[in-house]
Amino acid sequence: MAKYTGADCRLCRREGVKLFLKGDRCTSRKCAIDRRPTPPGVHGVGRRKVSEYGLQLREKQKTKRYYGLMEKQFKGYYFKAVKAKGITGENMLSFLERRLDNVVYRMGIGFSRAQARQIVNHGHITVNGKKVDIPSYQIDLGDVIAIKQTSKQKFAHLKEYRPIIPKWLDFSTDTLEGKVLALPVREDIDLNIQEHLIVELYSR
Ligand code: SF4
Repeated sequence: MAKYTGADCRLCRREGVKLFLKGDRCTSRKCAIDRRPTPPGVHGVGRRKVSEYGLQLREKQKTKRYYGLMEKQFKGYYFKAVKAKGITGENMLSFLERRLDNVVYRMGIGFSRAQARQIVNHGHITVNGKKVDIPSYQIDLGDVIAIKQTSKQKFAHLKEYRPIIPKWLDFSTDTLEGKVLALPVREDIDLNIQEHLIVELYSR
């Protein structure tokens, strides 16, 4: 799968928000957007009037970058959301949240979505007792997500860690096992996203 290989902090500066792409660094004084909150490049500091299309585009780019996806894959979630019952924008965010790499991040197993994706890719995660190494795997209600028995030693450091876990998930740092208590709805997703702008962009 294609992936972005440039500087992560540049993406945050481009979007003007913290995308939390680098784990602990994002909450430290080293965070680039705290130190230099202007867009990257020589024209970064200037003020420009942003068109409606520009606003929609930035919202889409920001959301795509939160979840670390490329355009084709991200747009696939929009099409899936259109076909599902309910509000398209909210459906799309719910599908994005239900990605296994995001769930591993939300449970605090990975300190960033990129790290969580690597953990899944390396085969350290099981879903309902079976190894799943596909980051885009969609979790379902009642699924049990755990660190594979033979990988538990590698994640022993989590026992000291008390992550803030969203209420739709549960995870024990003692047993290194968690459960999907509910499927995520809009109020569960704490990201500053105006999903209706993305829907408007794609339905142009
Ligand atoms: Fe973004 Fe994190 Fe870099 Fe800060 S440290 S600019 S939040 S990726």
